[in-house]
Amino acid sequence: MEPEDLYARVITDVPLLSALDYRVPPDMLLAVGDIVIVPVGNRKKAGVVIELRPWTEIEKGRLKSVSKVKLGIPPLPAEWLRLTKFASLYYCRSWGEVALPAIPAFFRKSPGVRYQTSLEKVRELPSASGKNSAFPALQLNDEQQDAVARISSSKGFSPFLLFGVTGSGKTEVYLRVMQKVLAQDPQNQVLLLVPEINLTPQLEERVASHFPGEIVVTLNSELSERERARSWLAAHEGRSRILVGTRMAAFASFRQLALIVVDEEHDLSYKAGDGSRYSARDLSVKRAHDLQIPVILGSASPSLESWAAARQGRYCLLELHRRAVSHAEPPELELVDVRSRKKEEILSSEVREAMDETLGRHEQALVFINRRGFSPVLMCPACGWKSECPNCSAFMVYHKDSRSLVCHHCGHVERIPERCPSCGAADILPVGLGTQRIEEEIGRLWPNARILRIDRDNFKTKRATDAAFREVHEGKIDILIGTQMIAKGHDFQHVSLVVILNIDSQLVSTDIRSRERAFATMLQVSGRAGRSGLKSRVLVETSFPSDVIFSYLARQDYAGFADFQLRMRKRDGAPPFVFQALLTAEHRELEPALETLLLAVEKGLEIQSRLPGGGGVAIYDPVPMTLVRVANKNRAQLLVEGESHKNLLSFLKEWLPAIEPLPGVGLSLEVDPQRF
Ligand code: ADP
Ligand code: ZN
Ligand code: ZN
Repeated sequence: MEPEDLYARVITDVPLLSALDYRVPPDMLLAVGDIVIVPVGNRKKAGVVIELRPWTEIEKGRLKSVSKVKLGIPPLPAEWLRLTKFASLYYCRSWGEVALPAIPAFFRKSPGVRYQTSLEKVRELPSASGKNSAFPALQLNDEQQDAVARISSSKGFSPFLLFGVTGSGKTEVYLRVMQKVLAQDPQNQVLLLVPEINLTPQLEERVASHFPGEIVVTLNSELSERERARSWLAAHEGRSRILVGTRMAAFASFRQLALIVVDEEHDLSYKAGDGSRYSARDLSVKRAHDLQIPVILGSASPSLESWAAARQGRYCLLELHRRAVSHAEPPELELVDVRSRKKEEILSSEVREAMDETLGRHEQALVFINRRGFSPVLMCPACGWKSECPNCSAFMVYHKDSRSLVCHHCGHVERIPERCPSCGAADILPVGLGTQRIEEEIGRLWPNARILRIDRDNFKTKRATDAAFREVHEGKIDILIGTQMIAKGHDFQHVSLVVILNIDSQLVSTDIRSRERAFATMLQVSGRAGRSGLKSRVLVETSFPSDVIFSYLARQDYAGFADFQLRMRKRDGAPPFVFQALLTAEHRELEPALETLLLAVEKGLEIQSRLPGGGGVAIYDPVPMTLVRVANKNRAQLLVEGESHKNLLSFLKEWLPAIEPLPGVGLSLEVDPQRF
């Protein structure tokens, strides 16, 4: 067969477009998995070759040609193609939409004249440190040893759920297993996934110093295009055997991946972002299955999906019961009933006393409140006016330091009105608490304390945040105030008091995930205290002190809580006992959005009537979303539920192409909307 007798089937990231066929120019050498540049309409796009075939007479002449091929890098391996294809089918996206964004931008650009030179640069890596480990090897405790032994003696696909409180030595277990896997075969590579917020310099150092002979590369959204290309290529070509990365690294390409670790597997950041809302954790398990390798999911508060899988025996549950450092005392939980609190008090007297004591002992306090800004709403006591966003059905948050009202949903910003825009009254008041208001109050109460507030408003980059955390570690801060950003990962040595404010709204929310998140958050935040043997306390302000969630929290009994929640989920027919897809319609007006979904229901019922047992799916009524208007778009949703994921997918496959949105209505589908 002559090379000119070939055509290439190529995927690109044009939405809704399936693979396209191109002529392969006679002088071009192509392989399946090669990245190419192809004409699509009148544009040039990057694509990946998924198939090469001799062409037939009919197609001859009609086909455009492949424009360019990215020379100098090996083709994407078959395993990577299978992974991205699977993800596209599972999440109902086109293959190209999933695959192309997973390739660094550097390799998606048309190769210019200087391409080879820049490629050489991208290929340069710092050499392995070669230094001997800076830390003496730790003696693992029995549970750690057992975990390492069971994982490293496993054969083929073996999913493990490593469950242990923060500080119980999970990371140490990952590192030891990684070590064993790397020692088994010089070609072996490992992938360590961590939440965005946990990829700290401390973690990088810890991994690097554990593997002095290895080149450790990282992938995360903070890296420049060049840095990303460098790490990606090093893993792709097998020159680096350890990749530590965030969610985006789940789609990295490897020559011989032999182990995947997903740290903090319950973390929401594994499924964040817009566009294809895939779960990096779920895909990692799938990938491990495909490769027949072990995968470790680690967490102090596993997702209910993983917990259910462990309870059903599909995952092997490994527990670390104690904190690894024996003098680390679990903190004592105290509930502060705020129902009787005086209205003008921002912090309860219990909290104020505890702070006084902590500061008196020159120890650190951490105040957690999951809301940015000064107060969530401004209100006029005279007429009841509230700071509503003009574009959304939500309130604008009062940001005192920038003297503005900011909508956290659409980003709309306004100056603070001097008088009530509705009745002209002079006094408009902040209602509720945000980080800034707490910072102001704490500054007023303890004027001599060194206070640091960390949230997304004042720390926008990772670099700045890391520097701020360093100050805390170095003991230069007495009181740390912050949102979720301070809850995770950090191993503060001198924090002996943790205060949790404003958790109540999460306890009574209608969102089925809300209580679980509240529990995980409280558990995590509490875990910041008592890391180095200081006797420590956790104070939670709440109006619901008798809520059962606190009795589990007091015992730090995540397992009990998770079992309880799973029983509730089962009773309510909620995931993971059913499989869901959510169709969202948006339009300037609510009516066309709802109407489109009603038409979609009709189509769905029609399809169902032709299937035995209705295809094992249920179609619910379309409803306006709770937060119905965002950025001047009204949104409505329609839930479809399947008894199995297979039922759901085969229904979606018929249903989606049959749906015709009314003019101007945008539609989007999310598979597993509640699965994190
Ligand atoms: P996790 O990942 O569960 O939060 P780590 O692995 O980070 O826990 O361990 C917490 C701390 O305890 C770290 O400082 C680590 O070096 C230390 N550590 C872990 N295992 C042991 C051990 N067997 N003996 C002594 N210290 C340990
Ligand atoms: Zn008013
Ligand atoms: Zn808004």
